Amino acid sequence: MFILSVRLRGGGVSVVWRVAGKKQKSGEKECQETPHHVMVRSGSGLAFSLPEGFGTMCWIMRMELVKTFRFEAAHWLPTFAEGHKCRRMHGHSFEVDVAVSGSVDPERGYLIDYGDISAAWAPLDAKLDHRLLNEIEGLENPTSEMLAVWIWERLKPLLPMLEAITVHETCTSSCVYRG
Ligand SMILES: [Zn+2]
Repeated sequence: MFILSVRLRGGGVSVVWRVAGKKQKSGEKECQETPHHVMVRSGSGLAFSLPEGFGTMCWIMRMELVKTFRFEAAHWLPTFAEGHKCRRMHGHSFEVDVAVSGSVDPERGYLIDYGDISAAWAPLDAKLDHRLLNEIEGLENPTSEMLAVWIWERLKPLLPMLEAITVHETCTSSCVYRG
């Protein structure tokens, strides 16, 4: 069996395939994710070979993409105990992983342009980089946790596929927020 095209429509999928040189079309099928599909690249497009029993399965190619950004900023943490080192003003080279996920359009063959993630991030970088985070509205208590939420709330409207924000405060400490 040789799959010619796959189109996702909402929760359904339409597949055109060729058996022994004859073109056939599935119509709409209920989507069920299975681990059995095999993807092969053919010419300039994508083709899919599926095992027998295709009638009960459909094709979904879910992906998660991660784009990492860096910025330098100072902060101090007012909710820590007096005398704790985090109450003193200090700086970090923050790293933020912006993860998006979804089903790849089989005709485009990609989930999202990384440049779209960068464009959504740019206004936040302007607010965060080389700043004292405590002075930013909404970040008066700029723990990594609060920063992750702050970033999520500003990116989610621009990136509906946003899946997770990971804030790395140091090389060994990070926090993940999934909305
Ligand atoms: Zn710190």
